[in-house]
Amino acid sequence: MISVLRIIEDTMVDGPGFRTSIYCAGCQHQCPGCHNPQSWDFEGGHPMSTEEIMRIIEADPYANVTFSGGDPMYQPEGFTELARAIKARTTKNIWCYTGFTFETLINNPRQRALLEQIDVLVDGPFVKSQRDESLHFRGSRNQRLVDVPRSLTQGQVRTILLSNS
Ligand code: SF4
Repeated sequence: MISVLRIIEDTMVDGPGFRTSIYCAGCQHQCPGCHNPQSWDFEGGHPMSTEEIMRIIEADPYANVTFSGGDPMYQPEGFTELARAIKARTTKNIWCYTGFTFETLINNPRQRALLEQIDVLVDGPFVKSQRDESLHFRGSRNQRLVDVPRSLTQGQVRTILLSNS
């Protein structure tokens, strides 16, 4: 089960192309200037099962998937189960937003299990002094678009390249 705030279909702001974005409840990073402080409350969502969410994801054959919040890495078991279902039943790629860094997540077994299902991780807290509205798909310059499979294979962070990154 995942505590879900809302699911937005066909959004274009959480990664390239059309995406189904799963916004979960709960975040403890408390970044000053957070765009979505109403998402911090872990009790603020409603529980949804993997199958309930999969029905929405599979209804759109063209949209890829984004996990956001809140911070999905506070609910690693639920999102790992969902990510495994997406990978087993579709060809969709998965982006995941988190306030943790890649280096932190790889040292936590529960979060690493989720990380291993992700294609691109947008990592790190929002840092107000590094805010840059010209960036695609991230709010501040410290945040990275991490190519997770390549980073895990090579043992160091590798980022994907976008035209303005
Ligand atoms: S990690 Fe994201 S949701 Fe959490 S406080 Fe920071 S900006 Fe807000």
